[in-house]
Amino acid sequence: MILLGPPGSGKGTQGERLTEDFQLPYYATGDILRAAVREGTELGVEAREYMDRGDLVPDEVIVGVIAERIDDHEAEDGFILDGFPRTIPQAEALDAKMQELGRELTASVLIDVDDGEVVRRLGGRRTCVKNGHVFHVEFDPPKNEGVCDVDGSRLEIREDDKPEVIRHRLEQYREKTEPLISYYEGVGILKRVDGARPPDEVSDRIRALLATLRMEEEL
Ligand SMILES: [Zn+2]
Repeated sequence: MILLGPPGSGKGTQGERLTEDFQLPYYATGDILRAAVREGTELGVEAREYMDRGDLVPDEVIVGVIAERIDDHEAEDGFILDGFPRTIPQAEALDAKMQELGRELTASVLIDVDDGEVVRRLGGRRTCVKNGHVFHVEFDPPKNEGVCDVDGSRLEIREDDKPEVIRHRLEQYREKTEPLISYYEGVGILKRVDGARPPDEVSDRIRALLATLRMEEEL
């Protein structure tokens, strides 16, 4: 399955929970790409050449790195993919590769969160300059404003959490990634989950969805 959703929708948290509940490998694309580079696999070396030049790693290379993982014993029963595809051409490249491997996607789960909520979640984060402890002005405020509870360091707004950067990331998402929603709707595997609900409720909902899909597959 694929996890879709804007920045701040909690995909990472949900991905980790699903991995535990269903014993499926969780592939955050950035992580597995960095791992391939670190391990110096053939595709990792290729990816590194692009990165060293400051170029984007081409879709085929990323799909190749994902395919190495999907084709492995650990993903026999399935896998959870996060961070890819981000565009229609990437979705098409992934489909072609999956077909080649004789596999198919069961679901594309959209964790739906509106822009206002994303800004509220990401914009309220405060990060400790020294050790990276994270607080939130609304959901998890520090005891003293602007000061880390753990080590007394100053709290700052990380570059990624600044309003203009959040707005830019949201624009990118709406422009490039949101068309994937219609794409997977067309293929008939899109499942929507209300991401504005508390994380536990979101997990329960996704779990129920996947359990149903599994039962249908076994019938
Ligand atoms: Zn700290």
